[in-house]
Amino acid sequence: MSLRLYDAHNHLQDDRFGGRQAELLEAAASAGVARMVVNGACEEDWPQVLALAKQFPQVLPSFGYHPWYLHERTADWQKNLAKFLDTVPSAVGEIGLDRWKPGLPHAGQEEAFITQLRLAAERNLPVSIHCLQAWGRMLEILQAEPRPARGFLLHSYGGSQEMVKAFADLGGYFSLPGYYAHERKERQRETFKHIPADRLLIETDAPDQMLPDTRNDFPLTDEKTGKPINHPANLAAVYRFAAELFGEPVEMLAARVEENFLRLFGGI
Ligand SMILES: [Zn+2]
Repeated sequence: MSLRLYDAHNHLQDDRFGGRQAELLEAAASAGVARMVVNGACEEDWPQVLALAKQFPQVLPSFGYHPWYLHERTADWQKNLAKFLDTVPSAVGEIGLDRWKPGLPHAGQEEAFITQLRLAAERNLPVSIHCLQAWGRMLEILQAEPRPARGFLLHSYGGSQEMVKAFADLGGYFSLPGYYAHERKERQRETFKHIPADRLLIETDAPDQMLPDTRNDFPLTDEKTGKPINHPANLAAVYRFAAELFGEPVEMLAARVEENFLRLFGGI
């Protein structure tokens, strides 16, 4: 039986793939990947994400300004983003708050996040959220601001187990990356056992968040730097890791993840 797998979060447009997207997608399709949310993280990404979506039907394009790249934003970035969302009303992201990355300015992050959250809420588009070491503030903002009625995704959820219910009550979904299969990620694995069944999603975050070597089915390198990168076809390996974690047959897991994915991102 072949499974239909859904990647809730990746960055297929990334330069590190060296223009090999068609080949990567072919491998991903053979591994069962039915759809993937491809997240633009800055203005330069957005036309590339749109071009991939036009070329490959399995690509669901998402447009947003990630906190890591906000320093690059142009004076017209909000207008520019709204234009993409009006042309292709699909999804907003990756947006978020980051108080972890060394040297990253915190000023302006909240304002940019809230602006983009509102664009998503007005259009009822699914929104993909990055959050590192800012979970308390994230919850406050999501409680105070308008949210898309269909919900939002906390990608690679790394907040506490205690906060899961509060986020879920607001419409939160939670995506598990293969990176959490690394031995030291015990706390995150434990937290994921407490995610409501109808709010779980699975992601590769390719080209980032590598699985442990023993689980890496599709080794790939950035040809420019020689560094290993994550292949989108590794989604099947992330599903197997998740099925082990939850003690659930992979077929059952895949069926509920499909339902969850289509409820949040579907109908587009
Ligand atoms: Zn990402």
